[in-house]
Amino acid sequence: MLDILRKSIEDMPGLSFDCSCGRNHSVEIEKIVVGNDVADEVAKYLEPYGNKKLFILSDSNTYEVLGKSIADHLNQKGFRFKSFVFETGSHALVPDERSIGRVLLELEPDIAFMLVVGSGVLNDIARIVSFRAGMDFAVVGTAPSMDGYASVGSSLIVNNKKISYYSHYPSAIFADITVMRNAPLIMIQAGYGDVLGKLTALADWKLTQIVNDEFYCETIAGLVQKGVGKCIESAEGLVDRSDNAIRYLTEALIITGISIGLAGVSRPASGTEHQLAHYWEIRAVEQGIDHPLHGNAVGVGTVVTAMLYELASEILPDGIDYPTVDHVTQLLEKAGACTNPRDLGISRELFVESLMNAMNIRDKYTILRYCDQKGRLAEFTDIITRRLYD
Ligand SMILES: [Zn+2]
Ligand SMILES: [Zn+2]
Repeated sequence: MLDILRKSIEDMPGLSFDCSCGRNHSVEIEKIVVGNDVADEVAKYLEPYGNKKLFILSDSNTYEVLGKSIADHLNQKGFRFKSFVFETGSHALVPDERSIGRVLLELEPDIAFMLVVGSGVLNDIARIVSFRAGMDFAVVGTAPSMDGYASVGSSLIVNNKKISYYSHYPSAIFADITVMRNAPLIMIQAGYGDVLGKLTALADWKLTQIVNDEFYCETIAGLVQKGVGKCIESAEGLVDRSDNAIRYLTEALIITGISIGLAGVSRPASGTEHQLAHYWEIRAVEQGIDHPLHGNAVGVGTVVTAMLYELASEILPDGIDYPTVDHVTQLLEKAGACTNPRDLGISRELFVESLMNAMNIRDKYTILRYCDQKGRLAEFTDIITRRLYD
């Protein structure tokens, strides 16, 4: 019997196994490399495309830190490619119709494969465009800022609304630790917040199994716990950007992405903390104002969700393992990350509204709905708001 829990991340691509939960799980990614100086690995992986034309997508920042050296390396190896670099001046790149249309215009009919060098937004753009153009794509990650590297969805802004589009997995993921460790600290803190969010996501997943009889898999939950655990153990080193801390953070981010693919649902990676983060982001997008990085919002959402679980402890069914508020707060503080929604610029009014309404954005049962059904959500919202804002 194959035990995915004992596999290293590099050995996970292509795995397929019958699980004790009764389902078959598979990892539909061909290659994962987490290492230093990955350019040569990228070139080796792309060999089958040697007589075809590639498209390399980056922005001014990611081109500078890694895209240029990858392009130079592929050039030396004799690859044919077109490189497109988004100019990112004072404006952050937005995954909207304009950016997607721009990449589509740059794609030429003889291009057979897309390589994206970058993290969040660039990945979302590359994923949807390559999917719609019917070509595979691979990612070279530049920052350990989010868990979307191994994702099948693209989070886009369409008609000024944040919408998630189904697209496809990258066929390969390369994470260059040498580059990732030099990412801005706020991006490292964001990735770490996204990882810590799994603590409450897993509690919600278990809750929904017990209360709602939803599908739950011990093996997948165990896989996420293991990845998160290794990241937490080495978290002391995040601020100093130690090689190990950045590596385990990156691995945890990729593993949680994989776990969504294994489960076929986002449960192992996203619960109440993500509902809250999405709510804050949706409101910011509607108002056309800046919003915090996804993972920074998720980190704060994790503190808030832990508060809900603590308040609900007496009305919870047995068997749910949730993190304490102190534990989550201390873990975030270790990396110097935000722990209070005020520090993210979330107003008191928006905060109250989000706790009362975030359960309605998507049809996903979490502790918010549970507290609501027990008639306690307004009371808990009031207690938490006073604790965080008074
Ligand atoms: Zn299973
Ligand atoms: Zn996330």
